[in-house]
Amino acid sequence: MTAPPAPRAIRRLDEGTVQRIAAGEVVERPASVVKELVENAVDAGAREVRIRIEGGGLELIAVEDDGAGIPAADLPLAVERHATSKLERVEDLAAIATLGFRGEALASIAAVARLRLLSRAEGTAAASGLSVVAGQIVGRFVEGRAPGTTVEVRDLFFNTPARRKFLHAPAAEQLEVLSSVERLYLARPTVGLAVDNEHGELARLPPVASLGEAAARVFGPEFLSQSFRVAARPAPGLAVDAVLGRPAVSRSSSGALYLALNGRAITSRPLAQAVRLAFADHLPRTRYPVGAVHLEVEPARVDVNVHPTKREVRIAGERDLADRVRRAVRDALLATPQVADRPAAGAAGAPLRGGTSTVSVGHLPPLAALPRVAEEAGRGVQRTLGEGPVPVTVAATARRPRLSFVGQLFRLYWVAESGDDLLLVDQHAASERAIYSALRREGRLAQQELVEPVRLELTPRQAATLGAHAEAIARSGFRVAAFGGRAVRVEAVPAYRGRRARSEAFPALLEELAAGGRATVPDGLVERTDATIACHSAVRAGDALGAEELARIVEALDAEPEGAYTCPHGRPILVRIPRSRVDRWFLRSGP
Ligand code: ADP
Ligand code: MG
Repeated sequence: MTAPPAPRAIRRLDEGTVQRIAAGEVVERPASVVKELVENAVDAGAREVRIRIEGGGLELIAVEDDGAGIPAADLPLAVERHATSKLERVEDLAAIATLGFRGEALASIAAVARLRLLSRAEGTAAASGLSVVAGQIVGRFVEGRAPGTTVEVRDLFFNTPARRKFLHAPAAEQLEVLSSVERLYLARPTVGLAVDNEHGELARLPPVASLGEAAARVFGPEFLSQSFRVAARPAPGLAVDAVLGRPAVSRSSSGALYLALNGRAITSRPLAQAVRLAFADHLPRTRYPVGAVHLEVEPARVDVNVHPTKREVRIAGERDLADRVRRAVRDALLATPQVADRPAAGAAGAPLRGGTSTVSVGHLPPLAALPRVAEEAGRGVQRTLGEGPVPVTVAATARRPRLSFVGQLFRLYWVAESGDDLLLVDQHAASERAIYSALRREGRLAQQELVEPVRLELTPRQAATLGAHAEAIARSGFRVAAFGGRAVRVEAVPAYRGRRARSEAFPALLEELAAGGRATVPDGLVERTDATIACHSAVRAGDALGAEELARIVEALDAEPEGAYTCPHGRPILVRIPRSRVDRWFLRSGP
């Protein structure tokens, strides 16, 4: 038993310590500084904002706007805590129209960096400035400048080494800055945002009138042709405006869905979930929608004062709102021609489940699907049995008897017979798993030079990922060279057992690396990265894969320890249906 510690006196913290502690809530990393400064520019009515970062924002963040400016006399107040021009009385909190109102951002940033504020208010002849170091005003000056404001932040966290330690490498912080800028742009695309670093331009996001144009800038020009639009007023005082990728352009993480509420970028699990639910049977459980959603609700329903960075907000009647959003998105999705024509993604795979002893129609594939199954399987049988000398087989292992492939279904699943079992093998999951294992074992994937390199145009975020994840990219087997601007030339692609990945998989790999890999199994960062690489190097669902190739993959999996029959993300590779169950479907009691 240890004695309780002796009581210690309570004392007031000095002002500098208080400031630094408080700053921690608002300023987490360079991206949060950029967010606060850009929001201030937006509140000041800026049309164009230029952002410059050096050293990933750790050395310098400069944000320059053409907004209303700050009167010279107010400059010292601007950097003081709880001083704001955006809120007068507590009642105003009920209907905040500006992004800021807490009067904390500049003071917080100034407390943990060297800050220089230069502003020329509308109608004045010159710009006045202040220098602030660790919260103390150390200088004042007058300079020439067009109307507007420039804030320069140098040596972020120079006086809070603990915080500095949690920062990532400059390339990774830069990527975060870009993400943050894209998020702000998609919430308010009428304000143009440009980002440069010491080497040149990172992003040009010009002011645009529509959400569609903004989405094209962020997700790439081809996005619009693969997306659908939601424009609905599902209830009085509620408007939904969204541009969302069709199911075919989904992602494996939730980070590419951007939500804005009354012009403020927000995160909201219920609302993001509502959008995802709208895609229900059109998206597999492991996929997430991509796009931007603007919601307008009466300001009185929204409490933005729940979080220092205001990323999370509270909405009265959130459930009802989420439900209306889901229905609006659902209606728009179903009205999209290409989506409505296609059978729902789940319909083909689901019917084979079941397995109770009573056979009812419910356990059978829907009638409409039957002819297709029979036809394709039939052709597969002929190809393998009729034309080939012998069916392709994989030798028995301790875990299962000899396996012979019968044919392919839906250009995705292979049908095989193994002893008294019917097996369905997902070719994408199987090749993904085999590549993952190879990557885990050898550290990197083999590379194949492309005879004709492929030119790709990357989005700003994808381009920033090149630097931030250079090591993972090198291991993936992709090799790219800069081509000017954000264009790259893919010179080599991953290769596995004589088959190579498509160069078009590269941007998707970048997206996923930027999002931190998938947030499912496996746990470790390296494993997650490997799983991501494997996924994008694997044979895609629609690619042709020969039975011999799949047989080699299954053999490779057989050599793995138990548990290799799921893909790195936990989806099954192989589903086993006992013959007894097949017999029951046909009302036969046994073989
Ligand atoms: P808040 O935005 O919550 O008011 P800040 O600390 O971010 O608090 O800014 C304090 C004040 O400084 C603002 O209320 C605004 O009057 C002024 N200000 C800050 N940045 C700008 C800017 N870029 N243009 C004009 N005024 C600004
Ligand atoms: Mg602010």
